[in-house]
Amino acid sequence: MPATRTIQDYIRTIPDFPHEGIMFRDVTTLFADPRGFRMAIDQLLHPYAGLRIDKVVGLEARGFILGGAVAHQLGTGFVPVRKAGKLPGRTISQDYQLEYGNATVELHDDAIEAGETILLVDDLLATGGTAEAGIRLIERLGGKIAGCAFVVDLPDLGGRARLEAMGMDVHVLCA
Ligand code: IMP
Repeated sequence: MPATRTIQDYIRTIPDFPHEGIMFRDVTTLFADPRGFRMAIDQLLHPYAGLRIDKVVGLEARGFILGGAVAHQLGTGFVPVRKAGKLPGRTISQDYQLEYGNATVELHDDAIEAGETILLVDDLLATGGTAEAGIRLIERLGGKIAGCAFVVDLPDLGGRARLEAMGMDVHVLCA
């Protein structure tokens, strides 16, 4: 292990999870290390530290861990985007496509006020389908997205290009 570890050094790859042929990027090893976790939070929020951010939105589930810490550091509120059926209050829903089939994410309909500035956070950007669904929910409530921050980008899957084509500022720590 190098003397000065980078974010990548804390992330391990688990082959054949959750299906054969998938190389799963496991960020739990990054979260478990005090220096790695702090580095990830500091780097995620760095481009947004001087901006007005009203709320951080985290995508289920690892986006909650990262987004909560980022919100604490920025002094903002935190709002979860959850899988269908998990939020107790009145929600709005957004369907999106997975490799096989569809999925739905939800947001409390009073979690964001029109005009609030939002930072979207998740652990990993692959096709961008999950993040796009989150963006659509935020925008339907009138939120303005200052940026979308991820620890890992898988550039071959096109998520970054997809979000940038929507006009998003995309910030990633490693590929
Ligand atoms: P996308 O919608 O294709 O961009 O997939 C991104 C979503 O799937 C994120 O919420 C990730 O947490 C999750 N995901 C996909 N692949 C991985 C992986 O290799 N490691 C961790 N999370 C992943």
